[in-house]
Amino acid sequence: MLDDMLDLQSSLAHRPTWQEIPAVKRALFDEPVPMEGIGPDAVYARFRSHILPYGNGNWHPRFFGWVQGQGTPLAMLAEMLAAGMNPHLAGFNQAPPLVERQVVGWLATLMGIPGAGGLLVTGGTAANTHALGVARFAAVRSRGGNVRDNGLQHWPDGPTTKPLVFYGSVETHGWARKAAEWLGLGDRAFRRAPVNADYQMDLAALRRMLEHDRAHGLDPFCVMGTAGTVNTGATDDLRAIAELCRDESLWFHVDGAFGALAALAPSVRAQVAGLEQADSIAFDLHKWGAMPFECACVLVRDETVNHETFRATATYLAETRRGVSAGGVYFADRGLDLTRGFKALKVWMQLQADGVAKLGRIIEQNVRQAHQFAEAVTAHPSLELLAPAPLNIVCFRYHAPALDEAGLNVLNEELLLRLQERGIAVPSSTRIGGRLALRLAHVNHRTTDEDMALVLSAVVEIGDELVAEQRDARS
Ligand SMILES: *Cc1c(COP(=O)(O)O)cnc(C)c1O
Repeated sequence: MLDDMLDLQSSLAHRPTWQEIPAVKRALFDEPVPMEGIGPDAVYARFRSHILPYGNGNWHPRFFGWVQGQGTPLAMLAEMLAAGMNPHLAGFNQAPPLVERQVVGWLATLMGIPGAGGLLVTGGTAANTHALGVARFAAVRSRGGNVRDNGLQHWPDGPTTKPLVFYGSVETHGWARKAAEWLGLGDRAFRRAPVNADYQMDLAALRRMLEHDRAHGLDPFCVMGTAGTVNTGATDDLRAIAELCRDESLWFHVDGAFGALAALAPSVRAQVAGLEQADSIAFDLHKWGAMPFECACVLVRDETVNHETFRATATYLAETRRGVSAGGVYFADRGLDLTRGFKALKVWMQLQADGVAKLGRIIEQNVRQAHQFAEAVTAHPSLELLAPAPLNIVCFRYHAPALDEAGLNVLNEELLLRLQERGIAVPSSTRIGGRLALRLAHVNHRTTDEDMALVLSAVVEIGDELVAEQRDARS
């Protein structure tokens, strides 16, 4: 198994980026409950033939879809060590939580909030939702309430409170809607501010919304800035949002799912300036941090308020003065999960083995490759850049002068599917002002400059081919 996985990781460039699962192979996944065993060899053979070749391709050097990281061989082995040792990361008096506390401490220092509290969670959605939950707890407490006892319900003996609302731009990732629903705030509480031509939150509009909402009986408690929006890689003016939040006594949260990692890269860091003033930051390590899924981090500047949001007392988890329960369940008291795995080991090993500076250089390489790609798109007569590309995301399309907007959308979608189905490369798509954009989200440490050039020429080739097909169909 180890040989196969290591061979795989060193032969990726020769494999298709993605391939469809043949119907005959899908049948395996309809087999009934295995009451009798077939043994490890037989089941591993099934893994090799029916599962391994049919991933979504994110390990490959020409994968740029959504925002999915690649993983590394060392982190893969660290996952094996973590699963082999299998410690329980609620806390306890053992070495693994010391590893997680050290990793979180390093990350807090790198983000410019040394001493912040935090923990590793499954992903950016979980990390952001966690942070918004802490902000909600702090907001209710500062208004004399207790969200842990009362929730956001109106009890007959309770005070009547105004609806709590929070703000982000229209470019905020979809987690925010889920979180608003899940935290009992409701989607109505998520107020979406418009963006400027660079897809950054329009702060004058935000101020007007705050004033308007307060005048209409709403109670603003938090503004979220995004470092690296999912559509275009734009970063809100985090310094200005920090100042506004200080002026207005609002919690300042940053969704830095991938963009926060730009803080590790000296030549890109300025784009996310202001990050270090956040009350909370959420970011993934399984996107631009090259960690295998799942791995993200949430940092809360005020460690006490994070602790107070989640602290629980259960007799069966009581802290003892000595022994295995000395120190209690540190992480279970600071997050939602009780039983937690040893995600921290892969981060701890990878960061030490490579050094953070190397990760910074990879991030710089990705940004350079994305910028060069965007320039090549702009320079090419058949290609069109659909949004500014400040960081690592490029939104573009093939442009045929004879086609209207609807025709271009159809053509570019077909182009995308052929690119994927031929195993050449995997970009994904989005809509920019109604236009279907091919979207490269580049967090791939395996991509060479030749890979980037190959994607560009393949897009042009397939676009030309589609135009020729349409011409033939007409004549
Ligand atoms: C990916 C992403 C998320 C969600 O993170 P997951 O790890 O996929 O849960 C949130 N915000 C932004 C900006 C993202 O790019």
